[in-house]
Amino acid sequence: MAYDRTDLEIIRILQENARTPVMNIAREVNISRPTVNSRIERLQKGGIIKKFTTIIDRDAISKNILLILRMKVDKKKIGALKEMNEIIEIYETLGEKNLTCKAIVRDMERLQEFIKRISDLGAGEIDSTIVLNTIKEEYESTVGPEIGITLNCEYCGSEVKGSHFKFKIHNKEHYFCCPVCLKSYKKKMSHRP
Ligand SMILES: [Zn+2]
Repeated sequence: MAYDRTDLEIIRILQENARTPVMNIAREVNISRPTVNSRIERLQKGGIIKKFTTIIDRDAISKNILLILRMKVDKKKIGALKEMNEIIEIYETLGEKNLTCKAIVRDMERLQEFIKRISDLGAGEIDSTIVLNTIKEEYESTVGPEIGITLNCEYCGSEVKGSHFKFKIHNKEHYFCCPVCLKSYKKKMSHRP
Protein backbone atom coordinates (compact mmCIF):
# COMPACT_ATOMS: atom_id res chain seq x y z
CA MET A 1 0.00 0.00 0.00
CA ALA A 2 1.23 3.45 -0.81
CA TYR A 3 0.86 6.36 1.53
CA ASP A 4 1.24 9.99 0.72
CA ARG A 5 1.72 13.38 2.24
CA THR A 6 -1.94 13.62 3.32
CA ASP A 7 -1.59 10.35 5.25
CA LEU A 8 1.53 11.70 6.87
CA GLU A 9 -0.31 14.84 7.97
CA ILE A 10 -3.22 12.81 9.37
CA ILE A 11 -0.76 10.61 11.30
CA ARG A 12 0.97 13.66 12.76
CA ILE A 13 -2.33 15.18 13.92
CA LEU A 14 -3.44 11.91 15.51
CA GLN A 15 -0.06 11.41 17.17
CA GLU A 16 -0.43 14.81 18.76
CA ASN A 17 -3.98 14.03 19.88
CA ALA A 18 -5.74 10.82 18.91
CA ARG A 19 -9.05 12.39 19.88
CA THR A 20 -8.87 15.22 17.37
CA PRO A 21 -12.35 15.40 15.81
CA VAL A 22 -12.51 14.24 12.19
CA MET A 23 -13.99 17.62 11.31
CA ASN A 24 -10.86 19.38 12.54
CA ILE A 25 -8.57 16.99 10.69
CA ALA A 26 -10.60 17.49 7.51
CA ARG A 27 -10.27 21.24 7.83
CA GLU A 28 -6.55 21.18 8.58
CA VAL A 29 -5.60 18.73 5.84
CA ASN A 30 -8.12 20.20 3.43
CA ILE A 31 -10.03 17.04 2.49
CA SER A 32 -13.60 15.88 3.16
CA ARG A 33 -14.67 14.16 6.37
CA PRO A 34 -15.48 10.82 4.70
CA THR A 35 -12.03 10.89 3.10
CA VAL A 36 -10.42 11.42 6.52
CA ASN A 37 -12.36 8.44 7.87
CA SER A 38 -11.47 6.16 5.00
CA ARG A 39 -7.81 7.19 5.18
CA ILE A 40 -7.67 6.48 8.92
CA GLU A 41 -9.27 3.11 8.29
CA ARG A 42 -6.74 2.36 5.56
CA LEU A 43 -3.85 3.34 7.86
CA GLN A 44 -5.21 0.97 10.50
CA LYS A 45 -5.73 -1.88 8.05
CA GLY A 46 -2.25 -1.33 6.65
CA GLY A 47 -0.79 -1.63 10.15
CA ILE A 48 0.66 1.88 10.13
CA ILE A 49 -1.61 2.91 12.99
CA LYS A 50 -1.28 0.09 15.49
CA LYS A 51 -3.69 1.40 18.08
CA PHE A 52 -5.02 4.49 19.77
CA THR A 53 -3.85 4.48 23.32
CA THR A 54 -3.66 6.62 26.45
CA ILE A 55 -0.38 7.90 27.82
CA ILE A 56 -0.34 7.94 31.58
CA ASP A 57 1.98 10.04 33.69
CA ARG A 58 3.14 7.37 36.11
CA ASP A 59 4.58 9.93 38.48
CA ALA A 60 1.14 11.46 38.85
CA ILE A 61 -0.05 8.20 40.38
CA SER A 62 2.89 7.71 42.69
CA LYS A 63 6.59 8.37 42.79
CA ASN A 64 8.30 5.50 41.08
CA ILE A 65 11.80 4.29 40.52
CA LEU A 66 12.68 3.80 36.88
CA LEU A 67 15.35 1.19 36.22
CA ILE A 68 17.46 0.14 33.30
CA LEU A 69 18.58 -3.45 33.58
CA ARG A 70 21.04 -5.46 31.58
CA MET A 71 21.29 -9.16 32.10
CA LYS A 72 22.07 -12.53 30.69
CA VAL A 73 18.97 -14.62 30.22
CA ASP A 74 18.25 -17.88 28.53
CA LYS A 75 15.89 -17.21 25.62
CA LYS A 76 13.37 -19.66 27.05
CA LYS A 77 13.03 -17.48 30.15
CA ILE A 78 12.19 -14.29 28.28
CA GLY A 79 8.49 -15.20 28.26
CA ALA A 80 8.41 -15.17 32.05
CA LEU A 81 10.03 -11.73 32.15
CA LYS A 82 7.45 -10.46 29.69
CA GLU A 83 4.74 -11.43 32.16
CA MET A 84 6.15 -9.24 34.93
CA ASN A 85 4.21 -6.01 35.37
CA GLU A 86 7.24 -4.09 36.57
CA ILE A 87 8.99 -4.61 33.24
CA ILE A 88 7.75 -2.17 30.65
CA GLU A 89 10.25 -2.64 27.84
CA ILE A 90 12.47 -5.54 26.79
CA TYR A 91 15.16 -5.45 24.15
CA GLU A 92 17.23 -8.33 22.93
CA THR A 93 20.73 -7.03 22.44
CA LEU A 94 24.11 -8.11 21.19
CA GLY A 95 26.76 -9.20 23.61
CA GLU A 96 27.23 -11.31 26.69
CA LYS A 97 24.30 -9.61 28.40
CA ASN A 98 21.62 -10.38 25.85
CA LEU A 99 18.72 -8.49 27.38
CA THR A 100 18.13 -4.86 28.24
CA CYS A 101 14.93 -3.93 30.09
CA LYS A 102 13.22 -0.90 31.45
CA ALA A 103 11.31 -1.48 34.66
CA ILE A 104 9.39 0.45 37.26
CA VAL A 105 9.25 -0.25 40.97
CA ARG A 106 7.62 1.76 43.72
CA ASP A 107 10.42 1.97 46.24
CA MET A 108 13.84 0.65 47.23
CA GLU A 109 12.36 -2.21 49.15
CA ARG A 110 10.41 -3.42 46.13
CA LEU A 111 13.47 -2.88 43.97
CA GLN A 112 15.42 -5.46 45.93
CA GLU A 113 12.52 -7.87 45.91
CA PHE A 114 12.13 -7.37 42.15
CA ILE A 115 15.81 -8.04 41.41
CA LYS A 116 15.60 -11.16 43.50
CA ARG A 117 12.56 -12.32 41.54
CA ILE A 118 14.24 -11.92 38.16
CA SER A 119 17.35 -13.61 39.42
CA ASP A 120 15.21 -16.51 40.70
CA LEU A 121 13.85 -16.78 37.17
CA GLY A 122 17.35 -17.56 36.00
CA ALA A 123 18.61 -14.15 34.92
CA GLY A 124 22.30 -13.76 35.57
CA GLU A 125 24.88 -10.99 35.67
CA ILE A 126 22.11 -8.50 36.43
CA ASP A 127 23.35 -4.99 36.21
CA SER A 128 20.76 -2.40 37.24
CA THR A 129 20.89 1.36 37.11
CA ILE A 130 18.41 3.83 38.56
CA VAL A 131 17.32 6.52 36.12
CA LEU A 132 17.81 9.95 37.67
CA ASN A 133 16.12 12.03 35.03
CA THR A 134 14.37 11.34 31.74
CA ILE A 135 15.72 13.79 29.19
CA LYS A 136 13.85 12.54 26.15
CA GLU A 137 11.02 10.08 25.84
CA GLU A 138 9.36 9.80 22.47
CA TYR A 139 6.10 7.93 22.39
CA GLU A 140 5.45 8.60 18.76
CA SER A 141 7.77 7.09 16.27
CA THR A 142 8.48 9.70 13.68
CA VAL A 143 7.01 8.94 10.33
CA GLY A 144 8.22 10.19 7.04
CA PRO A 145 9.34 9.04 3.64
CA GLU A 146 11.28 6.29 5.46
CA ILE A 147 8.15 4.18 5.89
CA GLY A 148 7.04 4.04 2.31
CA ILE A 149 5.19 7.30 2.15
CA THR A 150 5.60 8.82 -1.28
CA LEU A 151 6.29 12.51 -1.15
CA ASN A 152 7.01 14.91 -3.91
CA CYS A 153 9.61 17.61 -3.74
CA GLU A 154 7.84 20.84 -2.88
CA TYR A 155 9.99 22.81 -5.22
CA CYS A 156 10.35 20.77 -8.40
CA GLY A 157 7.59 18.20 -7.89
CA SER A 158 9.67 15.10 -8.54
CA GLU A 159 9.48 12.18 -6.13
CA VAL A 160 11.64 12.43 -3.02
CA LYS A 161 13.73 9.27 -2.94
CA GLY A 162 16.41 8.02 -0.63
CA SER A 163 17.89 10.82 1.37
CA HIS A 164 15.58 13.76 1.65
CA PHE A 165 15.90 17.28 2.87
CA LYS A 166 13.54 18.50 5.53
CA PHE A 167 12.68 22.07 6.30
CA LYS A 168 10.28 23.16 9.03
CA ILE A 169 8.00 26.17 8.58
CA HIS A 170 5.21 26.94 11.05
CA ASN A 171 5.62 23.48 12.58
CA LYS A 172 4.94 21.78 9.27
CA GLU A 173 7.68 19.77 7.64
CA HIS A 174 8.45 20.31 4.01
CA TYR A 175 10.39 17.84 1.93
CA PHE A 176 12.77 18.37 -0.94
CA CYS A 177 14.59 16.06 -3.29
CA CYS A 178 17.93 17.83 -3.15
CA PRO A 179 19.75 20.70 -1.42
CA VAL A 180 19.34 22.87 -4.52
CA CYS A 181 15.53 22.61 -4.36
CA LEU A 182 15.58 23.29 -0.62
CA LYS A 183 17.71 26.37 -1.15
CA SER A 184 15.53 27.63 -4.00
CA TYR A 185 12.39 27.11 -1.91
CA LYS A 186 13.86 29.01 1.04
CA LYS A 187 14.81 31.82 -1.30
CA LYS A 188 11.30 31.94 -2.76
CA MET A 189 9.79 32.02 0.75
CA SER A 190 12.04 34.80 1.93
CA HIS A 191 10.92 36.99 -0.97
CA ARG A 192 7.29 36.69 0.05
CA PRO A 193 5.80 39.79 1.64
ZN1 LIG B 1 13.27 18.98 -6.18
